[in-house]
Order: sequence, then structure tokens, then C-alpha cells
Amino acid sequence: MEYISTRGNSPAMGFADVTLAGLAPDGGLFVPEHWPRFSLEEIAAMRGLPYAHLAAKIMAPFVAGSLSETETLELCEEAYGSFSHKGVTPLTQLDQQHWILELFHGPTLAFKDVALQLVGHLFEKFLSGSDKSLTIVGATSGDTGSAAIDAVAGRDHIEIFMLHPHERISDVQRRQMTTILAPNVHNIAIKGSFDDAQAMVKRMFSDSEINGPLQISAVNSINWARLMAQIVYYFYSALQLGGPARPIAFSVPTGNFGDVFAGYVAAQMGLPIERLIVATNVNDILFRALTRGDYSKGEVYQTASPSMDIQISSNFERLLFDLEGRDGSTTGARMKWFEQMGKMVLSTDLRRHASIFSAARVDEDEMLRTMNMTHQDHAMIIDPHTAIGLHAAQNRGLPSDIPVVTLATAHPAKFRDIVEKATGQRPALPSRIGNLFEREERFETLKADYDIISQYILKNASNRH
Ligand SMILES: *Cc1c(COP(=O)(O)O)cnc(C)c1O
Repeated sequence: MEYISTRGNSPAMGFADVTLAGLAPDGGLFVPEHWPRFSLEEIAAMRGLPYAHLAAKIMAPFVAGSLSETETLELCEEAYGSFSHKGVTPLTQLDQQHWILELFHGPTLAFKDVALQLVGHLFEKFLSGSDKSLTIVGATSGDTGSAAIDAVAGRDHIEIFMLHPHERISDVQRRQMTTILAPNVHNIAIKGSFDDAQAMVKRMFSDSEINGPLQISAVNSINWARLMAQIVYYFYSALQLGGPARPIAFSVPTGNFGDVFAGYVAAQMGLPIERLIVATNVNDILFRALTRGDYSKGEVYQTASPSMDIQISSNFERLLFDLEGRDGSTTGARMKWFEQMGKMVLSTDLRRHASIFSAARVDEDEMLRTMNMTHQDHAMIIDPHTAIGLHAAQNRGLPSDIPVVTLATAHPAKFRDIVEKATGQRPALPSRIGNLFEREERFETLKADYDIISQYILKNASNRH
């Protein structure tokens, strides 16, 4: 498979190069040159496969030319072997219509592990035997950082610098990053928002003073390999609920539009999906874009679902590219405009092609109430992000014969204070992260200033060419 840029100005590249590069040289995002498609018979034949086997099948068309089927399966088995549940992403029934897809059984307790455990192995595979080395520079709203650090800590040829917004992530989230003392791991707290951090990371890619002496790479969900790994659980859960013979709806708590875009890709690949509910918190750029065509960046509010405190959703560019007939020059011009003006308008006509999506905006009270009710009515403790997805799912009014799967994106123990406030229960940390609060922390706190951050990285990187 060859990959092209959403901005139409980069040469086509294979899967291995796209994984290592992260962002396309023209500032766009990589997408496969076409969506591979399975027939309903082919999808039905995947029913009952163990997770890693299903993953290798779904990924096969995307990795063709870079990995054989056996290699892909081996990498998936290693990646998903680190999960604490045999089913990797088990499904739990809530009531007649609603299901919870538990994506938090990886080492750092959020769905980011599903993608990043694999990406860690992919990096190692593609770098081994070469004299190449990579410097990963990332921005995290909380969960990407810990999952990425866990996936690459101690690995050869890779160094990681992770930026997080100072004091805007939970203590568990911070400690999961800052207590990893491997010499190839560097944590930076910036005095600003996630969007500030993300903007700086993006700028470093096009800054030859940095991305020259260092070969930098991305692990944010702009990296195609991450999205690819997330497609798998849409198939996996649909197959358990009667798919592909009947359509399934999914509700996805959303920030950067990565997870829900993976659902869109599953649909393009032939999986019958009735609806993808894009559930945001009060940071509602996606809600506004999909309901009114108003994609304009707003102020970022701090909420109890910090992994979704985002007002620019990087992966939305991938959807725009499709909606505009996969014309990179149009998307490129649109994104340049957005970068200058901070807003763009999506016409009704353009949005008509996005009818698989519906959007919901869930505020703090609704989120708390959903956590509380889910505990009372179903004796189930869910995390605040999941609660946003579930609230949206329960209020969508989908026909009662359509199963609705809410993606549970984090373990409730990651957000213990807010869970306790909503339910009166303080979830215990699972034993696999046991002594988190006794471990030593290490991180640097820096001003949200591009020159300060980029110079810090340049000075502290050991993988200089
Ligand atoms: C990252 C994250 C999200 C948002 O996912 P996107 O792919 O950015 O839309 C939602 N919930 C949790 C717990 C997360 O870590």
C-alpha cells in the first residue's frame, strides 16, 4: 500500500516510512491512496478469530509491501500479549441496547495502549538492522504520553520527548509518565494548554533547525499506524454482536478525532455501521463542525475529562480530505486558511457526505450524572470520558434493534477523584501499576515558548545525526 498526503504535495510512501515519519513533509497527514475493502462474506469469515489474528487480517492490506502476514501477526501477538485481559478489548453488556467496549486493559489503562503498544514494536522492527535513530516528539492531553512512553522506554534507537500541559492532567496520568526514569525518556511540563503543546510539536516538524539534526517522529494520533490499530476493535466488537449481518452504532468520546476516524475507516472497509456518535465535552469544536459547519477554534476549557480538552482536532483533516473528493490541493488550501484564520466553514453539501456521523456535546453535570446512574443502575464504574460517550449514546434515540457500543477509553482508576465525587466509590489502582505513588518523578517545567522548548530538546537529545 502506498500513502499520500492530505495536502497533496508529498511523494507517495510505503507503510514503514509513513510509520517512522508520522507527519507528511508538506505538513499534511498520511492516508492510504485508497480504502481497502472486504466483502460481507470475508468479514463474516473473521468471526471468532482471536484478537491478534483478527488484527493481522485487518491490517494486512495497509502494511502490504512493508510486512508479511506472519510478521504482522507476530508483532500483534507481542503487542497484545501485554494486555491484562485475554480478550484484549472485551465487550460488556449494559442493557438491552447498550454495550461497553473496554479498551483500557493495556499497561497504562487507556485505549491509547491498543495502538501504541503495536507502534512501539513497529518502530523497533523498522529501525533494527539500520543505523537510523528516531527522536519522538509528542504532545499529550494525558493518555498518549504514558502509553507512548511505556511503549518505547528502554528501546534502542529511540528517544522520546513528551510535552504535557502543566497541572492540567490527573496525578495518575502525570506519574505514569514522570516515574519512568529510562534514559531515553524526557518529560516536559509546559505552562500552557494541550493545543499550545500540539502546535509547537507540529512546528518542529517543519523547522529544519530541529528536524535536520534530529529525525523527529510523531506518536500523536496523526501517526497513521495508530489509527490503523484502532480500526480492529470496531470489527472485533461488531462481529460479536451479529455483524456484519446487522449494522452496529458506536459512540466515541472524542478529542483529536482519531478514535472515531478509525470507525469511519472500518465503515469504508465494508463493515456495516449504522452511526458513529461523536461525543465531545464542552470543548465542542467537532460538535459545532458536524452540526452547524462551524469549525472554529475556541477557548480551551479545563474539564474532568482532560484527554478531550482539545479545540483543534488534528485528524479532522483526514475526513475533510475524503469529503472533498480526496483532492489534496483543496484540503491543503483549506487547512492553510484555517491555520491563519483559526476557523473555517463546512458547507451543508460537504456535510451531507458525512452523514454516518452524528454529534453530541455533553457538559460536566450530564457527565457526572451518567457516572452516578451507571453505578446505581448497573453497578458499573466508568471513567469520565466513557461517561461522555455513554450519555451521548443513551440520548441519541437510535432504533431499539440497533446495538449501540460505547467505547470505554480509560480505566476509572485513572481519574479517581472525579469518579469518587460522582459515585462515592474510589477505584483502586490495578495491581499492574501498583506502587505508582511511591516512585520517584522526573520532569522539566518550561514556559510555553517555542524557542525555549525546541532549544531544550535540541540540547538534551542524544540521537543527533
Ligand atoms: C485520547 C483520549 C480520548 C480522545 O481520543 P481521540 O482519538 O483524540 O479522539 C478519549 N478518551 C480518553 C481516555 C483518551 O485518552
